[in-house]
Amino acid sequence: MRRVSIFGATGSIGQNTVDLIARDPDAYDVVALTGGANIAQLAEDAKRLGADLAVTCYEDRLEDLRAALDGSGVEAAAGQGALTEAADRPADWIMSAIVGAAGLAPGFRALRHGTTLALANKESLVTAGPLLLAEGRAHGATILPVDSEHSAVFQALVGEEMDAVERIIITASGGGLRDWPLEALAQATVADAGAHPNWDMGQRITIDSASMFNKAMELIETKEFFGVGPEKIEAVVHPQSIVHALVGFTDGALMAHLGAPDMRHAIGYALNWPERRDLPVNRIDLAQIATLEFRAPDLRRYPALGIAQAVMETGGRAGCIFNAAKEIALDGFIAGRIGFMDMSGIVEATLDAMSTEFSLTIPPSTLEEVLEVDHMARDRAWSCINQKETA
Ligand code: NAD
Ligand code: MG
Repeated sequence: MRRVSIFGATGSIGQNTVDLIARDPDAYDVVALTGGANIAQLAEDAKRLGADLAVTCYEDRLEDLRAALDGSGVEAAAGQGALTEAADRPADWIMSAIVGAAGLAPGFRALRHGTTLALANKESLVTAGPLLLAEGRAHGATILPVDSEHSAVFQALVGEEMDAVERIIITASGGGLRDWPLEALAQATVADAGAHPNWDMGQRITIDSASMFNKAMELIETKEFFGVGPEKIEAVVHPQSIVHALVGFTDGALMAHLGAPDMRHAIGYALNWPERRDLPVNRIDLAQIATLEFRAPDLRRYPALGIAQAVMETGGRAGCIFNAAKEIALDGFIAGRIGFMDMSGIVEATLDAMSTEFSLTIPPSTLEEVLEVDHMARDRAWSCINQKETA
């Protein structure tokens, strides 16, 4: 039996992970599940999977969680400290699917114990990639990508030498506003940007898909995870979301990964790695799909991609600032304070402003430093939004 924990079990990735584990209960010994405000879901899954421990990140919800777990024998805990402690519980595999910077600390802690880290939390790589990988190496821990594009690249690289890799191409659906006229994008509302043609995801990531801030994060994630230079990484628009990524080799071969747009494939691959097991995902019928389209992304439509290129070239703290600023810009858009096309301007202005305080190329040397830069960048991004409003 493999001992597994799921951080962010109540979210979209977490629930897909729960689904896969619940299908084969005898194969897993569930150690800890963590969640947020959805206490009922957290308690139900913890009981159903027979977890040892359930943790909510909200300290004031401890009694609610205890009540919901009543009589089940599942231990309850609450607060950010309890989350990190949950990562100390011995496990063979943990899913890191907390959203945002809050996902960093539990992941780092699990690596310290040599636990295999299935990494959905892309913020960990974008803000602290080199530190995270070094932590994994220092403790002999394996990190497996769970973002669908990165899982696809990882699979295309099995048995290959990195020296033979000429380029990595990740695909982007183009998001819900893909076919809008360029001039209309500035007027896009939260509802317009929050509808996705192919993937069923939460509001924030769906808007990030329309703006391609999600793809921008994934370009940076690619650089960090696979250790390739920015000049070798590109994004291509592929409206069908069937090809998830391609790896080009020095002999001209291009290996593509195809699959249904269902996150349970990437999660299941990481869960079963290095084996492959049967997964409950739709099989692709190429004749039925008939056409796969690809086109170059228009940088006027997706300025986030241009910013990502600059961030990859700068390295150091730029990724951390980029991630923080894009989250605040998204908050500003959702709150109706800035327009859809203003988000990239806020991110650029934040990077510019932070570069006057310190050299962006200096990498953070500890997790504390990462979180400090993250806080500073968030404050600065809000100032940029305020300035824009009063201008
Ligand atoms: P989600 O919002 O659906 O779920 C997030 C989970 O984190 C929930 O369990 C929530 O309770 C928990 N959480 C939120 N704030 C927290 C905090 N401050 N402290 C502790 N826990 C907290 O998010 P999601 O879509 O499942 O995404 C999770 C991660 O995976 C993100 O980093 C996202 O970018 C990445 N990802 C998601 C998808 C997808 O299809 N949804 C695909 C690839 C990568
Ligand atoms: Mg992805």
